[in-house]
Amino acid sequence: MAASADRVGVIGGGLGGLAAACTLAARGHPVTLFEANDWLGGKAAVLSEAGYRFDMGPTIFTVPAVLERIFAEAGRRVEDYLDLVPLDPQWRCFYPGGAVLDLHADAGRMAGELDRFAPGSAAGYWRFLDLSERLHGISDRFFFWRSVGGLRDVFDLKNSFSAKTLGDVLAMRMGKTVGRTVREFVPDRRVAQMLDHFTQYVGSSPDASPAVLCGIAHMQTAGGVWYPRGGTRAVPEALAKLGGELGVDLRPGTGIRRIVLDGRGAVTGVETDGGERVPLRAVVSNMDSVRTHRELLSDGRPTRRFLRRRKYEPACSGVVLYLGLDRAYDQLLHHNFVFSADPHAEFDAIYNRGEPAPDPTCYVAAPARTEPAVAPPGGEALYVLVHTPYLRSHHDWKRMLPEYRTVILKKLADTAGMTDLEGRIRFEAHLTPQDIHDRYRVLDGAIYGLASHGRWLGAFKPANRCPDVPGLYLAGGAAHPGPGMPMVLMSGWIAADTLDRDGVAPARERPAAVGAVP
Ligand SMILES: Cc1cc2nc3c(=O)[nH]c(=O)nc-3n(C[C@H](O)[C@H](O)[C@H](O)COP(=O)(O)OP(=O)(O)OC[C@H]3O[C@@H](n4cnc5c(N)ncnc54)[C@H](O)[C@@H]3O)c2cc1C
Repeated sequence: MAASADRVGVIGGGLGGLAAACTLAARGHPVTLFEANDWLGGKAAVLSEAGYRFDMGPTIFTVPAVLERIFAEAGRRVEDYLDLVPLDPQWRCFYPGGAVLDLHADAGRMAGELDRFAPGSAAGYWRFLDLSERLHGISDRFFFWRSVGGLRDVFDLKNSFSAKTLGDVLAMRMGKTVGRTVREFVPDRRVAQMLDHFTQYVGSSPDASPAVLCGIAHMQTAGGVWYPRGGTRAVPEALAKLGGELGVDLRPGTGIRRIVLDGRGAVTGVETDGGERVPLRAVVSNMDSVRTHRELLSDGRPTRRFLRRRKYEPACSGVVLYLGLDRAYDQLLHHNFVFSADPHAEFDAIYNRGEPAPDPTCYVAAPARTEPAVAPPGGEALYVLVHTPYLRSHHDWKRMLPEYRTVILKKLADTAGMTDLEGRIRFEAHLTPQDIHDRYRVLDGAIYGLASHGRWLGAFKPANRCPDVPGLYLAGGAAHPGPGMPMVLMSGWIAADTLDRDGVAPARERPAAVGAVP
């Protein structure tokens, strides 16, 4: 094993931390990964009880190309580690009043569905997808696969501001929101509500998020929606297996209480909750970026600089009901949205007033449709997620949950026809914003790191290379490029790539059978 002082440390074994550890190890760095919980994968956890198996956190897996790139770093193929099943239609949408609309990957098929559902909407949808594709391309060229912390990291205003770049800036519709952009293209309020919902992937209000996030729609239609057989839990399991093969020293059950700095303020190691000091050349923190600065850095100056740089607003939180049922519902697809009557009122409650929405949108996963083994024969391991505000001081979820559970079950009965749901529950467990806060050490219970609010600069997150602490890199939903499975995987890759290119830690020769970087 390499001398301890030459190692790179990763704090946190969420998807971002695992992606960083695998990429660094594939590039020849000796790596130790410290995870406070006794499982790896962070929010991508599993709950197996009474014959039911639930993914506890993420269920919708998109843009598998990011995972492929991480495996390719090590000369490996994702398909040798994971069985990814495509899902199409990608979602089913239930609206109050009984209307149902499926989201298809194929734009032509979707346009046909829209002409049936809301005559006249198809042309606007085509034009919206064109814009979304352009915005996706802009993100690929300017935001993705490199450490970005603000506008200056994206556009070189002095030297290379070409006419094409100007066109890209105009296409980004800076100053406009997702909600407003969607409605310029698609006036039908139900279709607009469906397209709004891509912004929920980053836990932010479409009425406050910059239009560039309309690119998420094309990322999904082009890259597909996939179910990893075994559940989304199979993704961190595959990464942990790869990390083990590459020699990563994986230490679940080891929390870090301090990043140790030298007299110049550069990283020299970490201190575990048990008091062990581990010398390291550099650290990737997969802990929430704000809490990394507030809680792990003993020197006050970098933290003050970080906190002054911008306002850090947590993304939304959520309540999850895990319901083991003795029946399945034929009207459901694998992924479903049961929509509120008024999205603006719903988003206003969650994101402005900081209260659970009285008429919420429920996301419902019915995975037994794709993998019957998740439930006893004929049953369903139903997963219901409702977005809620991030934790406020007056939120007491022990008190609030029973009442909100009733609101959720009523919503599913009224809008998705699941009228006998309550009586079909054979197993039940819950996850509240307080549980999310405590289990994953996030900011105020946020599911998706930092909110993307701000018409101009809302898409920016803290850069992966921490400008205030030499040797510290950030990965995860509260760092660039943001939350959601593909983005945090990319975040881990960027943190590792930046660290590797900076040359702050010595790399050995690449491990045997490890291929070239694509
Ligand atoms: C209910 C729910 C539903 C979701 N649905 C989806 C979805 O359908 N699709 C999608 O793409 N995304 C979804 N997400 C979001 C997605 O799960 C996250 O964006 C992603 O998993 C976050 O990964 P991460 O690496 O940033 O952090 P995390 O998963 O939060 O991992 C961070 C890890 O760091 C550890 N840690 C923190 N501090 C320390 C410390 N000091 N020492 C050691 N370890 C520490 C924590 O224990 C944790 O394991 C969902 C999330 C939730 C909770």
